[in-house]
Amino acid sequence: MAAETIFSKIIRREAPADIVYQDDLVTAFRDIHPQAPVHILIVPNKAIPTVNDVQPADEAALGRLFSVAGKLAHEMGIAEDGYRLLVNCNRHGGQVVYHLHMHLLGGRPLGPMLLRP
Ligand code: AMP
Repeated sequence: MAAETIFSKIIRREAPADIVYQDDLVTAFRDIHPQAPVHILIVPNKAIPTVNDVQPADEAALGRLFSVAGKLAHEMGIAEDGYRLLVNCNRHGGQVVYHLHMHLLGGRPLGPMLLRP
């Protein structure tokens, strides 16, 4: 059993969040510290800590992350201009919350993918 994070409480609606989508496999809510005009987190309802922990049985939920990202991008009016989907893993990836999540970022030009050192 993976250790729970705040995201599990958000999924169960036990912690406050601006949930924009939820179904049987995934939940999407606005990031509390948005880095762009649109910054949504899309998370599997199952608490998978990192990409390293993904199992074949998780493929339906992880595929759903992409279909929901595209749907929300259309609904939020950023599909045509474009957006970025980001998944961080562990320390070097900059992961802070250990419940796998996809960032959907858009609403302005996002610049180069990585900051140069
Ligand atoms: P990461 O660095 O990929 O683990 O990103 C974690 C993200 O979760 C950050 O962008 C945080 O701002 C966001 N976050 C942390 N706690 C909350 C919360 N309670 N509600 C919404 N977003 C959160």
